[in-house]
Amino acid sequence: MKGRTRIAPTPSGYLHLGNLFSFVNTYLLAHEWELELLLRIDDMDQARLRMTYLDDIFRTLESLGLHYDIGPSGPSDFLENWSQRKRKSQYDAIMERLKDEGKLYPCACSRKELSTHLRSEHFSQHCWSKNHPFAAKGQKWRLKYAGESVRILNGQGESEESQLANEVWDFAVRRKNGEPTYQLCSFNDDLHFGISHIVRGEDLRFSSFAQAYLGEVLGENSFRKMRFYHHSLVKYEGKKLSKSQSAPAAKYYLGSRSNKERVLNFMAAELGLKGSFSVLGDLREAYLEGRYS
Ligand SMILES: [Zn+2]
Repeated sequence: MKGRTRIAPTPSGYLHLGNLFSFVNTYLLAHEWELELLLRIDDMDQARLRMTYLDDIFRTLESLGLHYDIGPSGPSDFLENWSQRKRKSQYDAIMERLKDEGKLYPCACSRKELSTHLRSEHFSQHCWSKNHPFAAKGQKWRLKYAGESVRILNGQGESEESQLANEVWDFAVRRKNGEPTYQLCSFNDDLHFGISHIVRGEDLRFSSFAQAYLGEVLGENSFRKMRFYHHSLVKYEGKKLSKSQSAPAAKYYLGSRSNKERVLNFMAAELGLKGSFSVLGDLREAYLEGRYS
């Protein structure tokens, strides 16, 4: 194996077709690039975790025939051995280190207040200079970012450079309730599990740059070598398959043989593959044949 990649669903809703398309992309690239595939489940947000959604992840991967090399075998193995709660001390250590090194500032602004600041100045700098005490409750801890260029490597190993997007200019590493944010957990876990390639949709490209910036701030050399691949987003029957809750639930499509074939053939067509597929393994073989012939 030449590295490791992952799929990283969140058990806070049923998986939708957008998730499936992203997983299939990751799965195919893992085979193309000879990477191990890890199933990581992001359950840090315990308030939104439901057992039925956790079950749905395993059922969906099973019905799709998507096999991973490393990860939990089912919901109980996950809760016992793989939950993000097990890595809470790692997340806390990063937050404390960033705080001690003067790289964070607290901010209790509401969304409405932030949009007001945004009109006059970049809100990121609004609370930066105010030196609110870290000990006060109900504050996010945001990373100080002054508009530096951030560099990532794409799938081919070429360098891409950008400023952080507006969505993450002000990104926090700690939520108002004291818990670590998605950006921090994802960054930590990718290092923890020795991930070398991150595959995600174009709509999450900004997260790649945010996490690369976090890597720079922490001086994590291994994160500099991370390859990022951003796949395009597609529409299915007129519906956009982004990270939206309105996207159709995957379990509905995988519930019957004919619907499953319809989904596989849709994905195959999106990938430019000719032919009809009833199992993911055949689609994978056709994909690899196309890549290497
Ligand atoms: Zn603020």
